[in-house]
Amino acid sequence: MRATVMYGAGDVRVETVPDARLVEHTDALVLVTRSAICGSDLWPYKSMKPTETGRRMGHEFIGVVEDVGNDVRTMKKGDLVVTPFAWSDGTCFFCKLGLHISCLHGGRYGLDGVDGGQGEAVRVPQADGTLVVLPVNEEGTLLPSLVTLSDVMSTGHHAALAAKVGPGRSVGVIGDGAVGLCGVIASRRLGAERIILLGRHPERVALGKEFGATDVVSERGDEAVERVRELTDGLGVDSVLECVGLREAVVTALEIARAGGAVGWVGVPEDENVRAGVAFWKNVSIGGGPASARAYIEELLPDVLDGRIEPGRVFDRTGPLDEVPDGYRLMNEREVLKFQIAF
Ligand SMILES: [Zn+2]
Repeated sequence: MRATVMYGAGDVRVETVPDARLVEHTDALVLVTRSAICGSDLWPYKSMKPTETGRRMGHEFIGVVEDVGNDVRTMKKGDLVVTPFAWSDGTCFFCKLGLHISCLHGGRYGLDGVDGGQGEAVRVPQADGTLVVLPVNEEGTLLPSLVTLSDVMSTGHHAALAAKVGPGRSVGVIGDGAVGLCGVIASRRLGAERIILLGRHPERVALGKEFGATDVVSERGDEAVERVRELTDGLGVDSVLECVGLREAVVTALEIARAGGAVGWVGVPEDENVRAGVAFWKNVSIGGGPASARAYIEELLPDVLDGRIEPGRVFDRTGPLDEVPDGYRLMNEREVLKFQIAF
């Protein structure tokens, strides 16, 4: 089969790899129908040291079940399924808490002999705990939005929950990438009254406004903080969604939160030693981390199915598997917001 392999920074190839196949009785074999390149895939694309063996890429996909192991109960050949970006058993201490990302028997795609999602097929471990069967067929127009449940929409929702977004709250969303834009969708869905999007890419903030952003702040750093304060009677916002991870973005997030506010932090941190003292003196609570997408897929799915939210609009380029190396390059150059792979 064909799949995406990264060999080092800027070196992504689509090549022939061993066919995915069942190994454990709890596995499912899934033929991928839609997949995507993630903003987090750009970190190794910028920085990975060259390797001989390469690393299989991709963790967002939907596909059709081709075969299941003897112990798999909740799906059968022919079912359309969506995966969260990490696999999990659904039965351990953490999964029962809804914290599937910390599953005691879970793991990540592309590691330890598990296929990546940017390929024709994937062996999914712990299939019953991981995959969600979708009540639609594989020809539907909902597929792009359904793919976003794997990661970006679930991560945006996680940021909003961690930031305690709710009816009447004011929200600042840091970042106009796919996660930030999904954070806007999530904030509006949870009833936020005012949503200030901090971003400067014209097309992306325009989409953010369609998703529900009420204000856009295109300044950065101290000027951005000043601008948000002006918009909030000098107080700062109730809730902040940090969807970038760069040091400056995290500092801005802490600065624009009002006293007693909350920051939901989902950008993969560039620098883990941020100025947490800013939060201490304002009694700001900091939550977030990697999302338990498995828990959120079921929560968000009805809204996608009836068209109340359309997170699939973050995909501004769709192409076949062979165009994935171009997709990485275009996303890295910020020419493309998010690349969807159609099989
Ligand atoms: Zn678990």
